[in-house]
Amino acid sequence: QQEIWAQLKDEPTFTADGEQVELVGNIGTPEDVTGVINNGGEGVGLYRTEFLYMGKSELPTEEEQYEAYKSVLEQMGDKPVVVRTLDVGGDKELPYLDLPKEMNPFLGFRAIRFCLENERVFRPQLRALLRASVYGNLKIMFPMIATLEEFRQAKDILLDEKESLKKEGIKVSDDIEVGIMVEIPSTAVIAKQFAKEVDFFSIGTNDLIQYTMAADRMNEEVSYLYQPYHPAILNLVNNVIEAAHSEGKWAGMCGEMAGDPIAIPILLGLGLDEFSMSATSILPARTQIKELSKEKIASNKKKILSLGTAEEVVDFVKGKIE
Ligand code: PEP
Ligand code: MG
Repeated sequence: QQEIWAQLKDEPTFTADGEQVELVGNIGTPEDVTGVINNGGEGVGLYRTEFLYMGKSELPTEEEQYEAYKSVLEQMGDKPVVVRTLDVGGDKELPYLDLPKEMNPFLGFRAIRFCLENERVFRPQLRALLRASVYGNLKIMFPMIATLEEFRQAKDILLDEKESLKKEGIKVSDDIEVGIMVEIPSTAVIAKQFAKEVDFFSIGTNDLIQYTMAADRMNEEVSYLYQPYHPAILNLVNNVIEAAHSEGKWAGMCGEMAGDPIAIPILLGLGLDEFSMSATSILPARTQIKELSKEKIASNKKKILSLGTAEEVVDFVKGKIE
């Protein structure tokens, strides 16, 4: 096993029938990059920037952020790095921000909702990212997008900061892709409309599942409803991938589901382009994908999407595909 992994470490990821996908890592800090590289990651698919803001008594400065983003980009060289802008609220609290106590924090004032209302927090992060962009292959991603207006507003602020920096004579990369997390059902449903405006999608199944099933991802009492293979989830995922491809864009996934050996064949068959997971899952996933025929799974796509329960999906996939 270890030997196979060592062999595959520096190889691209191909299926048995010669289709290529990208296996990338989720990170929380610049120190995590080493793990991604040592485990054969082809890039970073989700940099959760919250950790820069957590465990502190005040906001990180633009400079601190710039150094962190630059470090990640430099370590990854020309490999893609998807950085997610601040996703506070929900389960992630920041004591110094004095966020309101809410009845339903997961349905409340979090992530992009907070950032669009607090430009004094949002703009320094965007400036830090733009300044760091010249050191690698940066892609910027907004979390918790529920409406097109939110995306447009966030992108306008980003472009505004880019203009300012250029006027100040500071270099900014001109090919930064700007995409969104798809983790709210409204966005997954109208992915087609979004696909005309975004450069890419990354499906956040951790949240997408909880919002679709109306089952709090932290509540054990309802964890039986937290079903990654539920046909509703698979149909939403499929909708997002098809929408992306119809507009020539790419679709990735950065929720836990992307590294799950049961989900991987299904996602491959649905045409997912990029799988972002914890570093230690990358080589097992590459090993698994090498043995799978994308074409064969894709030919069962209609059937899989028409099944009625998560159990039926799992049984079908186990019986037919493996
Ligand atoms: C997700 O929701 O799937 C995701 C990747 O983001 P987080 O787990 O940070 O909410
Ligand atoms: Mg999320």
